[in-house]
Amino acid sequence: MPGKRSDVISWDEFFMRVAFAASLRSKDPKTQVGACIADRNHRILSVGYNGTPAGLDDDSFPWADSDDPLSDKHSYVIHAEANALLNYRGSLKDVQGATVYVTLFPCKECAKMLVQAGVGEVVYLNDKYCHTQDGAISRNVFDRCGIRYRRMSLTQDALR
Ligand SMILES: [Zn+2]
Repeated sequence: MPGKRSDVISWDEFFMRVAFAASLRSKDPKTQVGACIADRNHRILSVGYNGTPAGLDDDSFPWADSDDPLSDKHSYVIHAEANALLNYRGSLKDVQGATVYVTLFPCKECAKMLVQAGVGEVVYLNDKYCHTQDGAISRNVFDRCGIRYRRMSLTQDALR
């Protein structure tokens, strides 16, 4: 009898692949972000990606940066982490100590939201904004609130 498969992917890779798959749903032409929340028993609680609020037609939406806040996409888009939290239909108690897998290091607004929801750890793929001022605030929030955060990498094969 053959032994069990030993080359299975890790939980980290599994959840990050789910987060990445969610990012593929994003309509944002420039930045696609996905998030996956997993509890301490390796169960997926929720997923999300960056997008417009439900009911706001993303076909007629101006997917651009603009100096005019009324025409700037940032004024309207909900980030992946926030959507993952909002998509969860269970009790927020379940999120206590959970791990959030996100394809891009969280902005300061999402960092605060994740802390307040009770998340215990943040695992990210891309650190593009980690060393910006916004990222420094996120790190400050995580450090001061005792939230662990770490970067992981995935092979290109895993991102297809
Ligand atoms: Zn954010």
